[in-house]
Amino acid sequence: MKLSLNTATVWKQWTLAQAIDGCARHGIPGIAPWRDKLAEMGVKQAAKAIQANGLTVTGLCRGGFFTAKDWLDDNRRAIEEAHALEADCLVLVVGGLPAGSKDLGRARERIQECISKILPEARQAGVPLAIEPLHPMQAAERACINTLEQALDFCDALGDGIGVAVDAYHVWWDPKLEQQIRRAGKQRILGYHICDWLVPTRDLLNDRGMMGDGVIDLPRIRGWVEGAGYSGMQEVEIFSEHNWWKRDPDEVLRISKERYLTVT
Ligand code: ZN
Repeated sequence: MKLSLNTATVWKQWTLAQAIDGCARHGIPGIAPWRDKLAEMGVKQAAKAIQANGLTVTGLCRGGFFTAKDWLDDNRRAIEEAHALEADCLVLVVGGLPAGSKDLGRARERIQECISKILPEARQAGVPLAIEPLHPMQAAERACINTLEQALDFCDALGDGIGVAVDAYHVWWDPKLEQQIRRAGKQRILGYHICDWLVPTRDLLNDRGMMGDGVIDLPRIRGWVEGAGYSGMQEVEIFSEHNWWKRDPDEVLRISKERYLTVT
């Protein structure tokens, strides 16, 4: 089984310690913690528990948000934390438009400048940075890198030690998806996130669906990603105010596993 639990999936129900135990109990071999939960548990304690249970850290969520005032220190801390957890990558959600600005072009340039500032430290720490393009509906508030093509152009400009996290929820609609996954190849694909796009979608952020409940052709995208050489885990990442955050977390893990086996 190559399944990883992004802790956002049980964000309302479980602490990181509980999520680690949950993965072990359900035979899920990977975990991707969010930093708020990591801070609660303590990095050392978390690293110990993850190692004791033999879990792979498929990614640490998240660095980036280069629009924040303390972005440099915060990203430095994130790199240290990812290093301590031996994470496969540090996921970057790059931030949207600065407050009051309408200059999307400049916002995107600035992101590249900011990444180039933290990249040497990430390389030195052995932490690959993974730019996660977000669905364009989140361009203003969360990330103004919205396609795999944009992210890969950044990677080409920045060199080694940087790649992409392909989140099916964010990129499934892109007519260039197959082509850009092929372009990314084994070297640049650092993570693959799964869930589903619900129809209708009731909330821009927190209404993701369980795999199989929406319209994303997950087996097709998985085929492209694996065809490009990615051999890592599929990370289930579901933000769900109305449904999955209200359920028994053990049920969420059980169903995630079942769907991973049957519909992805
Ligand atoms: Zn994701």
